[in-house]
Amino acid sequence: MSEHRKSHLFYQTRHRRPVLDQARGVYMWDVEGKRYLDGSSGAMVCNIGHSNPRVLEAMRRQMEKSTFGYRLHFETEAAEQLAAKTAELAPDGMERAFFTSGGSEAVESAIKLARQYAVARGDSMRWKVISRFPSYHGATLGALAVTGYSPMTVPFEAMMRPMPKIPAPRAYLDGLDPEDIATGRHYAAMLEQKILEEGPETILAFLVEPIGGASTGALVPPAGYMQAVREICDRYGVLLIHDEVMSGGGRTGKFFAAEHWNVAPDILVVSKGFAAGYAPLGAMAARDEIVDAVLDAGGFIHGYTYAGNPLACAAGLAVIEEIESEDLMANATRMGNLLKQRLEGLKQRFDFVGDVRGVGLLLAFELVSDRVTMKPLQRELMAYDRLVEMAYQRGLIIYSRRTRGGYDGDHFMVCPPVIATETHVEEIMENLTAALEEFSALVSVERRI
Ligand code: PMP
Repeated sequence: MSEHRKSHLFYQTRHRRPVLDQARGVYMWDVEGKRYLDGSSGAMVCNIGHSNPRVLEAMRRQMEKSTFGYRLHFETEAAEQLAAKTAELAPDGMERAFFTSGGSEAVESAIKLARQYAVARGDSMRWKVISRFPSYHGATLGALAVTGYSPMTVPFEAMMRPMPKIPAPRAYLDGLDPEDIATGRHYAAMLEQKILEEGPETILAFLVEPIGGASTGALVPPAGYMQAVREICDRYGVLLIHDEVMSGGGRTGKFFAAEHWNVAPDILVVSKGFAAGYAPLGAMAARDEIVDAVLDAGGFIHGYTYAGNPLACAAGLAVIEEIESEDLMANATRMGNLLKQRLEGLKQRFDFVGDVRGVGLLLAFELVSDRVTMKPLQRELMAYDRLVEMAYQRGLIIYSRRTRGGYDGDHFMVCPPVIATETHVEEIMENLTAALEEFSALVSVERRI
């Protein structure tokens, strides 16, 4: 029935979805009354679960005061308080924040701030932003130019200035030991090589997700990688930008994922978990010296109408208060360890479950046809689509992406809200196992052909 509903709305495809009625905690209900466990927090967004009463109350209070104040006319308490909180959470020396309505806008802001800093310092030869493939940094043209994901970039390449890319450190694909510091150095050396190849005087920044999101499936960098990258950036005067749009906000057990390695970037961006789906919100924080240089040179030539929207900022502030007061980052670590262990256990039952990876509740598993070579499943199986659908039919939402650039692999994000309990983990595993069981019949057909 849902396939034939008439609609004036469109997104990516003609594919229709059930209509959402309500959402509470980790659960969502469609208008037919079917219940779903939100095992991917939307797109790794709704970190503290749905309809949190304290966040709703904070938003209601803000709504009764004001819902909009244009930034050239007014400052707002909500934006000011959230900026102070962001500064408290960010590495030392990042005392000011800039707000946006989402991740792509935050990435654009970071690139433009970096560029204006270079110009302000008389270093205007520097414009290239090195990033990685695969990677996803946003849908707008600037963010797309630094995205390494061909299904989304190819049609627009003629319209974008190509930006250099280096491979993401996927040790599991290359048969390298992720715990070995030599592995981290090996991948970081690719950054140095690229800088030298392109000409260090032209390189503005290196943009990297400390823990990969949907493009790499919760890719955790190998030992030593993050530190080596920091050193290389410093050596060549290249700014280090951390895209924590997905990894920030507490999901990995730390507010910013880079804290796992004690590495501070020059600029960072965060979005999804920052207001956890309660309002469209993203943020950028930068080292004071960068902000001061740009402001002193005449101002940051950049801004969005909705930047610093008080309702969005009040939501963000309440979300962070909830994470702190309920110790949700500790729960992300506890439940993440449990869920990861249970996902690892799937390997015994299904020989096509390949790598399981991630930290805290930013977790993913990859399906393969051969665990030794990590050869992907046959493309025609459309695992990324089918398995998600099989889980969805059972009332479990997970999130998938075709990995490795174009179509050559399937991984699945299992990232419930960080309020999840052991009972929720068991429910996820029960439905996921049943979905994999159904899917295994297709894999065995593939193997007979
Ligand atoms: N960067 C990363 C790492 C992301 O995961 C995303 C969204 N998936 C973005 C940027 C873009 O964010 P948005 O969709 O909010 O514009």
